[in-house]
Amino acid sequence: MRRVVIIGGGAIGSATAYFLTRDPAQEPFEVTVVERDFSYSQASSALSASSIRQQFSTAINIEMSRYGIDFFRSLGQTLRVGDDEPDIGLVEPGYLYLASAAGEGVLRENHALQKAHAVDVALLTPEELKTRFPWLDTEGVALGSLGLSGEGWYDGYSLLQAFRRKAVSQGVRYVQARATGLQCEGRLVRGVVLADGQTLPADVVVNAAGAWAATVARWAGIDLPVRGRRRSVFSFSCPDALPGCPLVIDTSGIWLRPEGRQFICGFAPPEDQDPDDAALEVEYEAFDSFIWPALAERVPAFEAIRMTGAWAGYYEMNLFDHNAILGLHPDCDNLYFANGFSGHGLQQCPAAGRGVAELIRFGGYRSLDLSAVGFERILRNAPLLERNVI
Ligand SMILES: Cc1cc2nc3c(=O)[nH]c(=O)nc-3n(C[C@H](O)[C@H](O)[C@H](O)COP(=O)(O)OP(=O)(O)OC[C@H]3O[C@@H](n4cnc5c(N)ncnc54)[C@H](O)[C@@H]3O)c2cc1C
Repeated sequence: MRRVVIIGGGAIGSATAYFLTRDPAQEPFEVTVVERDFSYSQASSALSASSIRQQFSTAINIEMSRYGIDFFRSLGQTLRVGDDEPDIGLVEPGYLYLASAAGEGVLRENHALQKAHAVDVALLTPEELKTRFPWLDTEGVALGSLGLSGEGWYDGYSLLQAFRRKAVSQGVRYVQARATGLQCEGRLVRGVVLADGQTLPADVVVNAAGAWAATVARWAGIDLPVRGRRRSVFSFSCPDALPGCPLVIDTSGIWLRPEGRQFICGFAPPEDQDPDDAALEVEYEAFDSFIWPALAERVPAFEAIRMTGAWAGYYEMNLFDHNAILGLHPDCDNLYFANGFSGHGLQQCPAAGRGVAELIRFGGYRSLDLSAVGFERILRNAPLLERNVI
């Protein structure tokens, strides 16, 4: 039986483990997931904004998220263990992208691509926005793009746990340990070295180490352009309700969405103020200095908000082109990569997990062809640029 060792037991590693062991009629694998922290205190899968959208600027991301929403909608049945039907609390109020006059052209171009890929999305004028969302101030907005279905949010930690529990029920072993190296022989990885000096023998290794994936790649002499980029999320309460509020991406780049009876919001710092692997400390000063003022300009009811909490996590940012890197590197025959999702990995974990499992099992994709996000594009210096990175 082929032994697969997955480094990293977050959503990506756990989804891969699930898909590798899902079908008892197929070649069985002995799957071990090495996860150093079972509390997932720094894992992106536990610290994310847990949202899903179809509004991307590349076909491959649209297709991956389409599979994501289909999977999420029936997840309770699919990942059921005995009588325990997981519930990730999926809701689908949509994403609303707001564009200024300068951004209108790009929004229209993205819209054309999305429509060509059957995304359920509508362009709205400022007047139409005002009618639909009376609580929104449309000052400076030239056009909005609203997802009408297939977009919303869910509980990311429950998603990770649902995959993990189902994988375990299918025979996957989770080992709480820190991987510290790979035992390499020519073009093959033969084992994963753990911090206690033990080596787990392996026929196949999967790098699902999230923001720490470049370290794992380095053990095999491979340069992976993925770095941890800190992102802060703030939760706040507002005395007024905002009926029908979707996830709003403001012209300022700040995003917000409802979370239960409260709201959460976040921002992406400018590139020159976005260091690699910054400590996971919340950037509180950002909230007062520009997030709150921008929120209150867009939604006047937000003048009266109160911050109720905050956290920070890492985007596992692919510095090359802000998209996933999936599959083998040409220099190594059995080390698979599932990295670099750059802020959209949770919604893509079903597609990525299924794809990597297919590569391992069949040596090629069987359902959705994900070769567009293979390593080759990086080696050819041919970026697949995603313009909608929030
Ligand atoms: C603030 C924020 C908001 C986000 N919002 C969204 C969103 O709305 N929608 C969306 O789709 N995505 C979102 N994301 C991105 C999403 O969370 C990630 O793309 C996804 O969770 C990546 O999953 P992963 O399993 O690769 O990484 P992780 O969940 O980080 O898992 C990697 C695991 O590897 C383990 N590990 C690392 N190195 C080792 C080692 N040497 N030995 C053993 N274990 C190791 C870590 O402990 C960790 O548990 C957001 C992320 C953040 C931070």
